[in-house]
Amino acid sequence: MGKITGFIEFNRELPSKNSVNERIKDFKEFQNHWSDKEASEQGARCMDCSVPFCHSGCPLGNIIPDWNHMVYLGEWENALNILHSTNNFPEFTGRICPAPCEASCVLNINSDSVAIEHIEKAIADRGWKEGWIKPIKPIERSGKTVAVIGSGPSGLAAAQLINRAGHATTVFERSPEPGGLLRFGIPDFKLDKDIVNRRINQMEKEGVVFKTGVSVGVDINSDELFQKFDAICLASGSTVPRDLNVPGRDLDGIYFAMDYLTSQNSAIASNRTLNPSITAAGKKVVILGGGDTGSDCLGTTIRQGADQIHQFEIMPKPPQVRIDSNPWPEWPMIMRTSSSHEEGGIRDYEIMTTSFTGKNGKLEKMECVKVKWDNESNNSTSPSMQIVPNSKFELNVDLVLLAMGFLHPEKKGPIGQLGVNVSEKGNVITDQNKMTNVNGVFAAGDMVRGQSLVVWAIAEGRKAATGINKFLSNKEKCQ
Ligand SMILES: Cc1cc2nc3c(=O)[nH]c(=O)nc-3n(C[C@H](O)[C@H](O)[C@H](O)COP(=O)(O)OP(=O)(O)OC[C@H]3O[C@@H](n4cnc5c(N)ncnc54)[C@H](O)[C@@H]3O)c2cc1C
Ligand code: SF4
Repeated sequence: MGKITGFIEFNRELPSKNSVNERIKDFKEFQNHWSDKEASEQGARCMDCSVPFCHSGCPLGNIIPDWNHMVYLGEWENALNILHSTNNFPEFTGRICPAPCEASCVLNINSDSVAIEHIEKAIADRGWKEGWIKPIKPIERSGKTVAVIGSGPSGLAAAQLINRAGHATTVFERSPEPGGLLRFGIPDFKLDKDIVNRRINQMEKEGVVFKTGVSVGVDINSDELFQKFDAICLASGSTVPRDLNVPGRDLDGIYFAMDYLTSQNSAIASNRTLNPSITAAGKKVVILGGGDTGSDCLGTTIRQGADQIHQFEIMPKPPQVRIDSNPWPEWPMIMRTSSSHEEGGIRDYEIMTTSFTGKNGKLEKMECVKVKWDNESNNSTSPSMQIVPNSKFELNVDLVLLAMGFLHPEKKGPIGQLGVNVSEKGNVITDQNKMTNVNGVFAAGDMVRGQSLVVWAIAEGRKAATGINKFLSNKEKCQ
């Protein structure tokens, strides 16, 4: 374990962040680094519990107490090797994972959890800085070929492992550059794109081929592609956004969050000179949706210089602390304040938009009502919503960003063309090896789980890679 008395001697401390005034001037990451001594003290807080709940809290099953111990001892390269044994991309999760492991850390029962996510980031960043992370080429090639469709975290994790197992791997991506939501959804201030590029370069050196700007199902028929490869891994995300069908929805000035975020991320990628096609500069903005995507929109609108920003959520404000029916080690359903919320904007809950109005096709106002949720009135587990009488209000607005989640993957394209079965919700159905109903076609990530997390996408991609390797080695349907 770290240090026997570590959790008593040292408090949980996170690296400092640049001040709000400083960091909103640009889109750069703003979290600073620990010194070696600070990292060692944080590693020392781990109690190496005989039943380490953090293991099962992490979807990857990261071997957290072991790398905490190595960081405490200053054995960084050993820590990196342990971390890489379960996680292909710890520099991504170390930055943007909501850290379910920390919620289930035993210390979190009555104290502050070990700073697992930041320790992970420190290990990964150290590995890159020291040059320990190198391309790992397969020892021999199997002669088999695999196509991965989609280059988000699930596709990247699957492709890296399939290729390392010796199967020639080609990733097809319809966007101009690989990375999926890591590149075009998540803002640079949370994840700098050079960090994504670094991994893509490593994978290219390992032999993975990336074919970008190719939309499978449009530029190449999926059946045709399947004939050319021994197996396919669908990793195309859950990309159909939830819309808001109220009067005035078609006015100019109302956008899906992903269109907005992609425009800013692309502008930064284009040598930081191109202006985003959608901007909040000088505008009155309303973000609809209180989740992470809404929070990313908030941080982006602040940096673009919005005049006034509201973020509305239809659901009730979560409690500040766990309620009895949501005990440790479950993920706590509590009020969260992201770094973007620290930076500005007004958050409000239980608000429903009823219409948009404008002049000459341009958005000018929105009308909303207050709502109330009632768990008990209909004696069912799903709460019922009522409009609060006389609660109607109007707001002047120039830009509305719809960040209300995603419904399911696109049905046209590979799913439809290959005849892959989907669930009632519209997500792809797979067996325990991540194989779909079509022999040799596998699926991973948000396509299977619905909109989820990067850590889950990596875990799914790893599982699909294992399934594909088994399938290609046995040459039969794996059960
Ligand atoms: C704005 C935003 C912020 C988020 N922030 C966080 C966060 O901070 N932390 C976190 O853990 N999770 C976050 N998430 C969730 C996380 O990004 C996703 O769960 C994760 O990226 C899913 O990975 P994936 O590989 O399954 O799919 P994606 O990342 O969606 O990648 C799918 C890829 O497939 C490509 N594609 C689709 N169809 C085709 C086709 N026919 N042919 C070729 N290519 C195709 C797409 O262009 C895309 O590049 C966020 C999500 C959003 C939208
Ligand atoms: S990947 Fe996420 S859940 Fe797993 S150890 Fe890292 S921060 Fe925790």
